Amino acid sequence: MSAKPWLAHYGEGRPAELTPDHETMLDLFNASVARAPSTEVIRYFDGVLTLAELDRASDALASALLDRGFAAGDRIALYLQNNPAFVIGLVAAWKAGGIAVAINPMNKHRELTYLLADSGASALLCLDDLYADVGRAVVASGGTDVRIVITASALDRQHRIDPRLFAHVTKPVIEDASDLETLIEQYDGRTPPPVAPSPDDVAILTYTSGTTGVPKGALNTHRNLAFNAQTYRDWMALTPDDRILGVAPLFHITGLVGHVGVALLLPAPLILAHRFHPGVVLDAIREHRPTFTVAAITVFISLADQPDATADDFASLTIAYSGGAPIAPAVRNRIAAATGLNIHNIYGLTETNSPSHGVPYGASAPVDPTSGALSIGVPVFNTDVRVLGEDGEEVPVGEVGEFAIRGPQVVPGYWNKPDATAESIPGGELRTGDVGFMDSDGWFYLVDRKKDMINAAGYKVWPREVEDVLYTHPAVREAAVVGVPDEYRGETVKAFVSLRPGSSATPEELVEYCRANMAAYKYPRTVELVDDLPKTTTGKILRRELRSSR
Ligand code: AMP
Repeated sequence: MSAKPWLAHYGEGRPAELTPDHETMLDLFNASVARAPSTEVIRYFDGVLTLAELDRASDALASALLDRGFAAGDRIALYLQNNPAFVIGLVAAWKAGGIAVAINPMNKHRELTYLLADSGASALLCLDDLYADVGRAVVASGGTDVRIVITASALDRQHRIDPRLFAHVTKPVIEDASDLETLIEQYDGRTPPPVAPSPDDVAILTYTSGTTGVPKGALNTHRNLAFNAQTYRDWMALTPDDRILGVAPLFHITGLVGHVGVALLLPAPLILAHRFHPGVVLDAIREHRPTFTVAAITVFISLADQPDATADDFASLTIAYSGGAPIAPAVRNRIAAATGLNIHNIYGLTETNSPSHGVPYGASAPVDPTSGALSIGVPVFNTDVRVLGEDGEEVPVGEVGEFAIRGPQVVPGYWNKPDATAESIPGGELRTGDVGFMDSDGWFYLVDRKKDMINAAGYKVWPREVEDVLYTHPAVREAAVVGVPDEYRGETVKAFVSLRPGSSATPEELVEYCRANMAAYKYPRTVELVDDLPKTTTGKILRRELRSSR
C-alpha cells in the first residue's frame, strides 16, 4: 500500500517514522544502566530492585549458566509468574548469548513437556512451588533436554508476599535444583564475557497457537523487541517519570514488551504483583500510583468492579491501554463512568511483538457508524497494513478482508516450523487471521477472527457484533457468542453470558433484547447463563472451549 492515510492521525509531534536508538535488547538495557543505574526498575511487594542491582544479578546468573555449560544460542525456559526473577532470567539469557523461552506458568505436565521439548531448552528457571508441582516430574521424565534447573521463590526479599495470593507462604524445600538467590550470592561480582547479539538474532521464543494448529515458538528477535519497546515509548508519550503497572502476564508478548521492554528502555519502575488478583492489584495501584499500563479489558472490568474502588484510586493512571481482546464500546463507557479511566485501544499479535496498531495517545478513536465497533487505531511507526480478500488481492477501502502486516516488529518466523512460517508469513508479510477494514480516514476496525465467523443458513454472523449489543444490556458482565450446529440453519447463534454482581436477567429476556436490537439472522437463538466465562491468562475469552461445551 503506497498511500498511508493513517499518518494524518499520528499527531502530538509524533514523527511519521521511528528511527530506533537501539537495535538489540542488550544494547537498550546497557544504555539505561549506564544512564540511570539507580532507577528503581522493579517494585515487587516490599522489595525494590534498582537497574544496577538487576545488572549485577543478571551478570551473576549469566556467569552461573555459562559455568554449567550453557552456550551461545542455547535456550533457557522461564516458567514463572510476574516477579523479579523473571526479569533477571530474561536479561541473563541475553548476557549468556542465549534465547529465553517464555512459558505460561499455568501450563501443566503435558504442556510444559511439549514446550521444553519443542524449544530444546537446556535450562529451566522456575518458581519453587511450580517446580515442586510440575517441573520436577517433567525434567525427571527424560523427555526434554533440560540439564540445568534453577528455582526462584515467589516471596519478596523480606520473604513475604500478600497472603491473598497464596494459602501458605512458606518456601518449599528443594534439594535437586540450584536456588536463584544462592547462585546470585555465589557469583556476585562475576561478569560474563561480553556478547553483542545481532539485531536479527532471536531474543525470546513466545508460544502461540497463531491461526491454526499446535503451539509454535514465535521468533521474537532483538530488533523486533527493541523496536516495539520504542514504539510504546513514542506512541504513548512515555518518559522516565512514568511508573508502569505490570499487570499483563510477563510470559505474553504484551507483558514482555509493554512492561519489561518499556521499563528497561525508559528506564522507569515496573510494579509487579505476582499474578492478577484484583484486590492485590488495586492495593498496588493505591500504593505505587502507576501512570501507565497495558492490559486486557477483563483486567479493567475486574478492577472497576471492586466494591471499594473509587475514581480517586485510578487518578494517576492517565495512560491506560487495552489490547489482546476486543473492547465493547458499552464496556469502555461503563469503566470510564466508574473509574474515570480513558482506555485507548491497541492491537497486535505475538507475531508482531505487541502493537501493530494503536490509538495514538491523546487521540480519540472513532466508532464505526454502521457496526458500532470501536477503532483499533492506526498502524504504528514504519508499519504497512494491507486488507486482503479471499483471492489474496487488496480490497477497496471500507471493505472487509484479512489484515496483512509488514513492519520491523513482525517476526521472521516460527521456531523449527518452516511450513507454518511460509503459510503465515509469506515473504515477510504476516497473515493475521483477523478480518476487518480501514475507513477512508485511515482508521482500522477489527470485525473478528476469521475462524470465529458463524455461517447461519448462508448469513455471515460475526460474534463480536452480537456481543457488543449484549454488553449494552445493564445486567451483562461478560458475553461470548459462538456458532452451534442447527438442523435447519446449519449453524445458529448461541450466547454465553455472565451477569454483573447484584443484577438479574433471564435467558429469554436477553434473547428478546437482542432480537429487538439487531437483524433477525444475527440474534442468539439461545442464551446460557454461566458464572464465569473460560478465558486465557491474557484475558481472551475461549470461544473454542464454549463451542465444545455446548
Ligand atoms: P496474541 O498472539 O495472544 O497476542 O493474540 C493476538 C490476537 O488477539 C489477534 O490476532 C486478535 O484476534 C486479538 N486482539 C489483539 N488485540 C486486539 C484488540 N485491540 N481488539 C480485538 N482483538 C485483539
